[in-house]
Amino acid sequence: MSVDSLDIRVKKVEKSRIHEIDALNINFGKHYSDHMLIAYYENGKWAPPEIMPFHNLYFSPATTFFHYGQAIFEGVKAYKDAQGNPTIFRPQDNWKRMNRSAERMAMPHIPKNIFIDGMKKLIDLDRAWIPTSEDTSLYIRPFMLATDEFIGVRPAEKFMFIIITSPAGPYYNKPVSIYVQDQYVRAFPGGIGFTKAAGNYGMSMYPTQQIRNMGYDQILWTDGFEHKYVQEIGTMNVFFVIGDKVITPDITHDTILEGVTRDSVITLLKEKGVTVEERPISIDEIEAAHKAGTFREAFGTGTAASIAPIYALTYHDDKMMLPPLEQWDICNWLKKELADIRYGRIADRHHWNLKV
Ligand SMILES: *Cc1c(COP(=O)(O)O)cnc(C)c1O
Repeated sequence: MSVDSLDIRVKKVEKSRIHEIDALNINFGKHYSDHMLIAYYENGKWAPPEIMPFHNLYFSPATTFFHYGQAIFEGVKAYKDAQGNPTIFRPQDNWKRMNRSAERMAMPHIPKNIFIDGMKKLIDLDRAWIPTSEDTSLYIRPFMLATDEFIGVRPAEKFMFIIITSPAGPYYNKPVSIYVQDQYVRAFPGGIGFTKAAGNYGMSMYPTQQIRNMGYDQILWTDGFEHKYVQEIGTMNVFFVIGDKVITPDITHDTILEGVTRDSVITLLKEKGVTVEERPISIDEIEAAHKAGTFREAFGTGTAASIAPIYALTYHDDKMMLPPLEQWDICNWLKKELADIRYGRIADRHHWNLKV
């Protein structure tokens, strides 16, 4: 199953496109670096990956992923440390999660050396694409697709694993307004909410479009039984600061994506001595805290957005406004601490930065 001695063939671009990037004005997800990595799975095994110039892909219209969505992805970021050396933030955790997604979607495990060593080699080659100004990074998008040419419904036998990368600026450039969704559902126990499967995002587009038209940025999903317990935001886990405690929904019942940023935030808070509770939290509890004046901060966490402060949380007619951001001790500290670790400005005491 695994590729033992990894021999990555590299075909370099003749001419880099890096001059097309305006380093001071980087959008999220619009530009792609010079190279990509591709590995093929066939007859029960992965062939060694290849790194080649970024290019369009060519598929039969009968390819299974177009029809049945056997497709999963990951999101990782690379930074440059104070000495200008590239580092990748916690990619082993993304590798493990990708394999949890793969298993649930009847897709093959991706060997560590293809995911990690392949990623390192790709980042090394495209290191000039890692932007260095504050709040920028190189976003890394590994993904896997079912590529059988067959219109019948059954698990595929052929797959492609691909990594592309994209210089990234801030995902949100201001605090976000969140709408608590109690009509549509993202995830049920026994479902695929814990995976980064393409279908989880396709199904969220319509409800998200609805609330965008109403002026909100993102949805906070609630559980599918009672619409009472909050789960997570479209692409981020969620944290609430109530009194002097930090509360985040616990990862149970397969309904919540186990974020790497979520884990980093919990680790840093506990290390600092802050009480973190991972448990079910209901919208009633949040409303009661807001009425009592103890609802102090709320933020989303994810690789793309890092830490995104929430300035307003709306549930039915109740628009809960949070205090001014300058007063948010916990969120502001976390943002800085995480950035300092990622950019190598302080000690990487949890060994999160993988050197390329
Ligand atoms: C990717 C993602 C997150 C955040 O996970 P990170 O590992 O922190 O990037 C949270 N929720 C959903 C639904 C996601 O897709």
